[in-house]
Amino acid sequence: MNMSDFQSLGLSKKLLQAVKNEGYTSPTPVQEQSIPPLLAGRDVLGVAQTGTGKTAAFALPVLQVMSRSRPQGKRFIRALVLSPTRELAAQIDERFSAYSEHLDIRHRVIFGGVSQNPQVRALQRGLDILIATPGRLLDLIGQGHIDITKVEFFVLDEADRMLDMGFIRDIQKVLKLLPQRRQNLLFSATMPTSISNLAGSFLKDAVMVDVSPKELTVEKIEQKIMFTRKSDKRTLLVKIIKEERVSKGLIFTRTKHGANRLVKQLDQSGIDAVAIHGNKSQGARTKALASFKKGNVPILVATDIASRGIDVEGITHVFNYDLPNEPESYVHRIGRTARAGRSGIAYAFCDDTESGYLVGIQQLIGKDIPVDDSHQFHYAGAIPKPGQKPGKIKDGKGGGRPRNRNRNKSRQGPKRGGNQSNQGNSNQGQPRRRNNQSRQKRQ
Ligand code: AMP
Repeated sequence: MNMSDFQSLGLSKKLLQAVKNEGYTSPTPVQEQSIPPLLAGRDVLGVAQTGTGKTAAFALPVLQVMSRSRPQGKRFIRALVLSPTRELAAQIDERFSAYSEHLDIRHRVIFGGVSQNPQVRALQRGLDILIATPGRLLDLIGQGHIDITKVEFFVLDEADRMLDMGFIRDIQKVLKLLPQRRQNLLFSATMPTSISNLAGSFLKDAVMVDVSPKELTVEKIEQKIMFTRKSDKRTLLVKIIKEERVSKGLIFTRTKHGANRLVKQLDQSGIDAVAIHGNKSQGARTKALASFKKGNVPILVATDIASRGIDVEGITHVFNYDLPNEPESYVHRIGRTARAGRSGIAYAFCDDTESGYLVGIQQLIGKDIPVDDSHQFHYAGAIPKPGQKPGKIKDGKGGGRPRNRNRNKSRQGPKRGGNQSNQGNSNQGQPRRRNNQSRQKRQ
């Protein structure tokens, strides 16, 4: 494989140069399959998660088609990229910077949680490409600062996460404001019915590109499940971090409070850690992420949503401190390690309230995760019972958290691609739907 592979996709000289400068030697599968149809003007429906190179898969053709012709007069928004979280939006913007270095194209990212003034000023100067989170986008449209009626490319990234976060109405509002004639791209890590319905509502004759990495990712990563009591998780974690001298470890907790508490507890054990989650200010999140990326802090504690799309090189360990109640989240989480062919290890701690979640995860990945019972905290009571159903345990003993009367409903939650309901949104630990939505919109 060499650069000619990128060439054979039909990319222009300037973009080939940009790709070379990034050190990419050959296109990834999602790039190989998406770039030619996008250059030919087709809509694309891509099943791909972060880490597959999907950003370049849409950014390169968008840049190329846009630089073919440059309308006279003041710049206007010709491409709109919608992204669920600020981190991901910022990352996409950063990729556009890298790829458009030699092009006369202006792009900008906007998201909530920070002052709108610099964003408004940039919009007033004129932009070709806008990357945005839905809340801030609609806010600024409402204030008359953004006009999306001339958009030629509409990219909906991480569509499944968008729906999880309660953005469906916002997406529908945006769709209504877009012009009829345009090219569409939808990327999603999973393809539950809710996403295929959404895709069907606005994609036209789309080319389907599926690089869902379920087995692929999972195979490269060494996985271990450890059964333990909830009260022993913290000591077990500290022991592993110390014994394995973890220098770049990502720990997932189900809730924001859990993340904060764990950072404090690790600190008490002499382990330096930072947390990122939706309750932190944008500044605090950026700072925490930067110190983790640079290697100044060895441990990052995150909730699923906050961590979504974060691309940090060289993560050696992923810990599922709490098991996610959406099986798909497990695959996303462990996919943070073993990037680019490197090896990595993913530990999952399972207590007696979580065995049903483990059943769901193992059903999704199609195999049993190897059990490590060689530690002093092994607790057989947390092992799933024969024939146990996936999902929440009905009569969770010893710390089970029957939060509401809909338990039976949520037991059915973790089926394949069951992300569509907000209830499944474990990561923020907010059981009430309305709070959940408004809170997450601000992420
Ligand atoms: P993404 O899935 O778009 O978030 O990309 C994940 C990472 O892969 C980013 O750090 C990209 O810079 C990198 N990447 C994208 N395309 C390629 C490629 N063809 N070869 C090597 N790395 C790539």
